[in-house]
Amino acid sequence: MFLMVKVDLVVRNAQVFTGGELFSGGIAVKNGTIVAICRNELLPDAETVIDAENNPVLPGVVDPHVHVRDPGHTERGNFETETRAAAHGGVTTFLEHPISCPPPYSPEILEARVKSAEPQCLVDYAFFGAAGADFPQEVGRVAEAGIVAFKTFLHEAPEGREEEFRGLTMANDGAILDGFKAVAKTGLICTVHAENNDIIQRLIQQFRKEGKVGFPYHALSRPPIAEIETVEKLLRFARETGVRISFAHISTPEAMELVKQAKYEGQEVYLETCPHYLFLSDEKLLEIGPFAKGNPPLRSKESMKKLWDYINDGTVDFIGSDHSPFLLSEKEKGLTDIFTAAAGSPCIELTLPLMLTAVRDGRLTLPRAVELLSENAARIFGLFPKKGVLRPGADADFVVVDMKTPFEVSNENLLTHAKAIGVQYNGTKLVGRPLHTAVRGRMVMKDGVVDPEAKGWGQRLYPQK
Ligand SMILES: [Zn+2]
Repeated sequence: MFLMVKVDLVVRNAQVFTGGELFSGGIAVKNGTIVAICRNELLPDAETVIDAENNPVLPGVVDPHVHVRDPGHTERGNFETETRAAAHGGVTTFLEHPISCPPPYSPEILEARVKSAEPQCLVDYAFFGAAGADFPQEVGRVAEAGIVAFKTFLHEAPEGREEEFRGLTMANDGAILDGFKAVAKTGLICTVHAENNDIIQRLIQQFRKEGKVGFPYHALSRPPIAEIETVEKLLRFARETGVRISFAHISTPEAMELVKQAKYEGQEVYLETCPHYLFLSDEKLLEIGPFAKGNPPLRSKESMKKLWDYINDGTVDFIGSDHSPFLLSEKEKGLTDIFTAAAGSPCIELTLPLMLTAVRDGRLTLPRAVELLSENAARIFGLFPKKGVLRPGADADFVVVDMKTPFEVSNENLLTHAKAIGVQYNGTKLVGRPLHTAVRGRMVMKDGVVDPEAKGWGQRLYPQK
């Protein structure tokens, strides 16, 4: 008779995604860390036992692109509501992008955001810092404050959102070159929203003058060339300055091809795309207007299909939701003038089921999906191997998913505070619904129900240098 060690949590009867494949057995967790992945009969006793009922257990999603408007615009949602949504979607870590009031371009502002997040978050989180032309002297300081990367925008602040974009924009080529030099010195990644401001502003002005403010003009005012030209130029600027560059939410195959070539040439460059560019085309914009408005806009069906080649050949590094909560009134404005609607949608809850449905349909493999959803972002932003992988020694961040039972998306079932506007996928039939989500061994969602007591459980993460 030997003494069995008792652990905190065991998940049994699972298909555990580990070592690049599904393994039949379970996971044992102690003090928030995975201590064993083994066959069911070898699992130790535990305080809590979860029966996975032979469903896959995947690494929790690491969402590298999330917007919570807290502090500043909590009427759109706060860290509590939006991380409940994260837990509901199997997201165990999110990287918070710096559109807030004001954006975190200094350690002091960042600290205020951390203070706001700390008592509220149900899942783990890290912050992007803001890099802009207005406060170049702050770039080095904020880099030292524990951010995972910088983000910058190459356009002026959208109408009425000046406060949210202060210190966050490099609005002309001179500012970009200077800004890249400053970020290069920090050694951190500079993530860019790559759209050509001059092209877009000119087109919007023209359309406005002609009274063309209906749904299609959102996409027409931000044509593919606005993204393609900017990616081409910024790759050059990044080579010149030595900055490690990452392109957020790339929407066109042409821009992806440019990144692919740069990777071939040995440049350090990263590429994100979002579920809406993979699953929705500009037809959705014509159908629901402001509710399908995002920047960059949805593209043609043919263009959308081509993105999947870059998903499969390794060009795309990670999938970000670009979760963007807004009030219904901020979207409804766009019903009469599309240019006045807020851009973005709250979609953190659907990334995982969308991608897993694509796995079921044979559009990508499960290992590739896990790379895109969890592992790569964790690696690239310095959170691996604690995050992004299931193996002994890693944090016990996982999601149990149901690949068998189809469900129909309805925004009524979303937990985001902004669910009223989250209608893009309504009526779509998906699989891969998250059943249980664990963050460092704590079940933040069980049987599809998020535990409100987990408020404040989320921890701030610092990148490893
Ligand atoms: Zn974004």
